[in-house]
Amino acid sequence: MASRLSWQSSLRARPAFASAVAVAVAGIGAYYGTRSFLLPTGHAESPELPKIFGGFGFTTLRLQDVKIVNHNTKRLVFEFPDQNSPTGLTLTSALLTYSWPKGQWFPVVRPYTPISKLDHPGSVELMVKHYPKGKASSHLHSLKPGDTLTFAATLKGFPWTPNKFSQVYLIAGGAGITPIYQLIQGILNSPDDKTKVNLIFGVNTEQDLLLREELEQYKKRFPGRFDYVYTVSHPKEDGAGLRKGYVTEELLRDVVQGSDKDTHVFVCGPPGMEDSLVGSRKSPGVLGHLGFSKDQIYKF
Ligand SMILES: Cc1cc2nc3c(=O)[nH]c(=O)nc-3n(C[C@H](O)[C@H](O)[C@H](O)COP(=O)(O)OP(=O)(O)OC[C@H]3O[C@@H](n4cnc5c(N)ncnc54)[C@H](O)[C@@H]3O)c2cc1C
Repeated sequence: MASRLSWQSSLRARPAFASAVAVAVAGIGAYYGTRSFLLPTGHAESPELPKIFGGFGFTTLRLQDVKIVNHNTKRLVFEFPDQNSPTGLTLTSALLTYSWPKGQWFPVVRPYTPISKLDHPGSVELMVKHYPKGKASSHLHSLKPGDTLTFAATLKGFPWTPNKFSQVYLIAGGAGITPIYQLIQGILNSPDDKTKVNLIFGVNTEQDLLLREELEQYKKRFPGRFDYVYTVSHPKEDGAGLRKGYVTEELLRDVVQGSDKDTHVFVCGPPGMEDSLVGSRKSPGVLGHLGFSKDQIYKF
């Protein structure tokens, strides 16, 4: 089942889509108002703190911390007014950001997927890849601690149910690791969920292996349940334990143990990778060759 708004489709439909969404969210914001979470608010009388996301209207949060990950990627932590406030997000959610970068005629609306644990209170962390001349990513990369960002809406992704599948294969390309990582965390940190998880992560260079340390920690904590294969298309050094090249049928044949009905595949990456893996109406794609039907594949 393909999602309605994949990374890829959002790009192809970009100008019309972005303007329409910008106007729509601006309307929603004007109608329902803006919830600014910049000033701490007292909740002494109410034990239940309001969820930060998921309601109507815009939410503005202050940037607390910025970390440079590599030549084109940053991690940005946005703080909640109360360090105990819950995010209100469910697994595989993305956040629709709303910004008006300098020099732009129209506001820019782009989704980003939190990489912090969704049940982590007090803040939310995004990991953003900068595209040259990219409107939203350039704006996000220009932000300094103390600056603010407005969130217009929450986008729900795949409705995950623990143990619905015995095994999932998660295929990520480059910055497409963010929704895949959110899913990995959600599955492995849920005590009831016994789903086995295999990640196949394809990148250009070893520097692009985002969240490498975190993934290694999960592999140590969940031996036999979580494993990964990294493949680097343009390796600069002879990285031990790394495969070379793209995510190909040959590579997937080494990893995939079977494609029966209780397995599922999740894919998020650049258009070329998604097309070759998922195929089209006419062609089955690499995953089709491995026996997966289209309804066993979800594209973020
Ligand atoms: C549900 C969802 C979740 C997302 N989560 C994240 C996330 O967690 N982190 C993240 O970094 N991005 C994420 N994205 C992508 C993000 O929303 C933007 O599309 C991306 O940051 C580019 O926006 P921009 O305004 O900077 O570029 P634009 O101004 O829209 O584009 C400028 C140029 O940059 C290039 N470009 C832009 N996006 C891509 C791309 N995805 N692949 C290849 N080239 C591109 C193109 O050449 C384009 O012409 C997500 C997208 C979706 C749909």
